[in-house]
Formats: sequence, C-alpha cells, structure tokens
Amino acid sequence: MRAVYLDYNGSAPLDPRVAEIMVPILTDGIGNASSIHHFGRQQSVAVDEARELVAAMVGGRSSNVVFTAGATEANNLALRGAVEGALADRPRILISAVEHASVRQTARWLDEHGLTKLDVIPVTNAGFVDLDALESMLDTDVLLVSVMAANSETGILNPVEEIAKRTHAVGALLHCDATQSAGRLPFDLERTGADLVSLSSHKICGPTGVGALVGTRRGLRRLQPIIHGGGHEHGLRSGSLNVAGIVGFGAAARIATDERTSESARVAKARDRLTAALKSRLSRVHDIGDVTRRLPNTANVRFEGADAEAVVINMGPVAVSTGSACSSGSIEPSEVLLAMGIPRDAAFESVRFSLGRFTTREDVELAVESAVTAVEHVRYMARRSA
Ligand code: PMP
Repeated sequence: MRAVYLDYNGSAPLDPRVAEIMVPILTDGIGNASSIHHFGRQQSVAVDEARELVAAMVGGRSSNVVFTAGATEANNLALRGAVEGALADRPRILISAVEHASVRQTARWLDEHGLTKLDVIPVTNAGFVDLDALESMLDTDVLLVSVMAANSETGILNPVEEIAKRTHAVGALLHCDATQSAGRLPFDLERTGADLVSLSSHKICGPTGVGALVGTRRGLRRLQPIIHGGGHEHGLRSGSLNVAGIVGFGAAARIATDERTSESARVAKARDRLTAALKSRLSRVHDIGDVTRRLPNTANVRFEGADAEAVVINMGPVAVSTGSACSSGSIEPSEVLLAMGIPRDAAFESVRFSLGRFTTREDVELAVESAVTAVEHVRYMARRSA
C-alpha cells in the first residue's frame, strides 16, 4: 500500500515551487545578509522581498516582521518579550486553556519564576475561548492576552476580533498564535486587532525552522529581546539571517495568499468526504468540537471503543496523529481535549486527520479503508480482552 500523509498540522510537505526558489540561494547565495558588500546586499534584498510576502499574508507591514526560527520562538518572544518589557502595574497575563505547548510552557515558566502571574481562560465544550470568562478575568492589571487563531488538534477557530476588542478595552496587548490558520484562511492584522501574531513556515508548505512574529508598531515596541547579540531584526532577534529559509517562507506565503481560498474549498470537501465515509462505514464515530467553526483541513474524530494510539499504529502507511503525548514515561491524554471537558477515556480515543495541498481523492479513499480496518481490528481486540 502506498503511503498517505494526513498530518499537515504536524508539518506540511515542502511545495516543490518553494524548493525551486530556495535552491539557487542554497547553492549560489553567498554572504551574510547584514554585510554591506555586494554579496551581502543581494542576500538582504532577497530577505526584504520575503518580508513583504510574509507581511502581505497577514495584512501587516514588512517593517514589522521579525523573522525567527519558527512559531515556537515567535511565541516565546511574544510572551517573554512582553513580560520583560512590562511595567510593574501590569503583573498578569492570560492564555487560553488550549494553547500550543510553546505558549503554555512559556507562560508557566514566567509564572513559576515570579515574572508574571498566569491565569488560564477556559474554553467552551465546543473548543473556543469562553468570552464571558475572559470578560470576567480582564482588568487593567493584565499585560497581555494570548489566544490562538485556530487550534492545531481540533482546528476550532477562536473569535479573535471579539477577544481583541475586550483585550484592548483594558489596555492589554493581544498576542495571537496564527500558526495553523494564516495561509489557510484570510487573516488581517488590522481587522482582527491583534498586536502580535506568530507564524510558522512549515505549516504552509515552506521549509521547517523558520517563522516570524509579525506585529503592529505598538505591539513590537513593548517587547524586549530574548536573544541578544548583533541587534538584527530591529534588535528583537539577533543572529545571522537564515536567508534560504526566509526566502522559502516568503515563497510559501505568496502561494498561500494566492491560493488559500480555492485550496481551502477543495481541501474542506476532501475532509468532509473523509469524515462522511468514516461515519457511514463505522458506528460510534463522534466529531470533537464545533465542526461549523474550524479549519477547512482538520477533522478530529473519536472512534468510541478504540484506543487512538492503537488505531494510528494499525493504520500503517497512512499518517495521522493523536493528541496524546508521552510525559514522564506514561501516555497522557491531550490537554486540549481535557480543557474542552472531554473525559479522559474519550480523549484517548481521538484521532486527528489533517489534509492539505497535495491530498488527492485516492489518498482520502485509502485513508478511509485503512481507518475502517484499523478501528474494527482495535475494537475487536478490546472486546476479546474485556
Ligand atoms: N503553534 C501552533 C498552534 C502549532 O501548531 C505549532 C506547531 N505544531 C507551533 C506553534 C510551533 O511551531 P514551530 O514548529 O514552527 O516551532
């Protein structure tokens, strides 16, 4: 059986058009983009073009793009940079209960080290931020609110515009981790009202190891650097620029901006075909979260009575993922699903299918066959050992 890749939210395959643009930089690009000689200037022109393309993807200004090594670093810079640049009268930060580990662990670290006080905003059973809870937690002592645009495990979208309005009403900054949504859905920095936005290249078919924090001037001015050195990227992120990676990210952003509307429509149809087939072929298949407000490429489903790890292993060459993680040697259920009020047992039975640009009709058919066989087998084994 041929391999099928349905784990785009983990990392999307590199678009060959992006690779083609990167190759000349890798083979012929010489020099440090900060050098003033001819070679260096050529590198910096290429970086500036990519800066424009990345900014355009989220409706930002190219002068407000800080390139990083990925969204993990962008999230660290947003949270830690804001806390370190903060005035004493704003000692609290708020993050949602379903943030990516790079937000969650950074926020916990800042709290544990006494640098801020962390409060976690609950989400509804449908998976998005509870606006009433947010309202009751917001006050003029809040420095920053961090809420993702779309959740990587469930695809559920947050009401970012509403959150921005409430956050700004108390004078706090809004950081939005748009890693999973920018490039798949339109995202406009001005309209959404986010002050800082994290992005990652490898989720949009660009190279891994590059991302950006894009901000408004107001947002970026409030940050302290977390990496010190030669003062690159307006002093916010020192280190020689990864020119080939950045150029690849720019190319991926351009393709995503041009194609996201048609691509999303096509991918959503494929995703819906997949889940409809699973539900018609198998009993006790449940959607996780509110499926009317989620990313076009993501489906998180619970196969009741079938352990998700076992299902994934039995799916062989069809790559999907579970939200559970290995922590201190034991498997822990997804914190995201638990935060949505999903019981532990059910959380262990959820599988994420994430499709994308290169997913074909045949891929979907093979994935359905493979999932049906795997779930039936795992359920049968569970009944036998019961
Ligand atoms: N935020 C979200 C929502 C993500 O899904 C991911 C990647 N899984 C990250 C941040 C981290 O991105 P990177 O791999 O670029 O560090």
